Amino acid sequence: MIKDNLQIVHNDVPENVLLVCVSKFQSNDKILEAYNYGERCFGENRPQEMKEKAESLPSDIKWHFIGNLQTNKVKMVIPHASLIHSVSNDRLLDEIERISAKFDKVLNVLIEVHVAQEESKHGFSPEEAVSILSDDFANKFPHINVCGIMGMASLTDNETQIRNEFKAIKNTFNTLKNSIFQGKDDFKEISMGMSGDYKIAIEEGATIVRIGSKIFL
Ligand SMILES: *Cc1c(COP(=O)(O)O)cnc(C)c1O
Repeated sequence: MIKDNLQIVHNDVPENVLLVCVSKFQSNDKILEAYNYGERCFGENRPQEMKEKAESLPSDIKWHFIGNLQTNKVKMVIPHASLIHSVSNDRLLDEIERISAKFDKVLNVLIEVHVAQEESKHGFSPEEAVSILSDDFANKFPHINVCGIMGMASLTDNETQIRNEFKAIKNTFNTLKNSIFQGKDDFKEISMGMSGDYKIAIEEGATIVRIGSKIFL
């Protein structure tokens, strides 16, 4: 039962950590079940699917885009997204700026950093993230509000490795917070942790966790 799963998850997730219910591939009925239990933040990783769900489900839902985003799909996501977690390359930043300006919107985003050993994961290296954000960012991207960073640990049973990767994400956040984003209150989010590793992520400083299978399966 979704309700029981949510209760278990909420017991683990402190009040000050935002739970994003990852509803990718889930039906509207299942999302409404979580909604009726009080959930208002849902995460999707396909632009078309997010658009369709946003247009047919209650308007007070906050949609988080969490997946790999292709530049040609940005225009489908911007009107509906309250936060894009997965900004992982320069071209995406340019396109988000261009489309957000058209919609006269300032878009909240997280910069995705790559710390896992797996090559398949997307994102900027910590050094690239610092460099792109330092370089006159606010003037170049006036329609983008950087609220923090997002990252994923490797898919492994090795808890020490997972913990170290979360520490590396947190360190990257601290480096940015103590330099470029000093005194910028909006820069405060660390999105890390999924069904298999969210408890470790919370111990290591996550402010947002993205949980799918543990809720919906
Ligand atoms: C699917 C997905 C999640 C949720 O994964 P679960 O293991 O089902 O909790 C979190 N983050 C991203 C980026 C995802 O694609």
